[in-house]
Amino acid sequence: MIEADRDLCIGAGMCAVTAPEVFDQDDDGIVVTLAEQPGPDDTELVREAVQLCPAGALRLSGS
Ligand code: SF4
Repeated sequence: MIEADRDLCIGAGMCAVTAPEVFDQDDDGIVVTLAEQPGPDDTELVREAVQLCPAGALRLSGS
């Protein structure tokens, strides 16, 4: 499951650039998740986004 803590997010946008199928940003730049689970092609990108997020706002669990 993909979890994004919008309270921690600082709107850096790394996630939306790294995995655009899974992460977007709202008008304030705060992360929005587009899926609860990454598709097979997106899992590695989501892992990358989790590591890149400067705020530690992202988690991928259960896979
Ligand atoms: S990379 Fe992290 S801080 Fe940046 S928009 Fe995504 S969740 Fe927010």
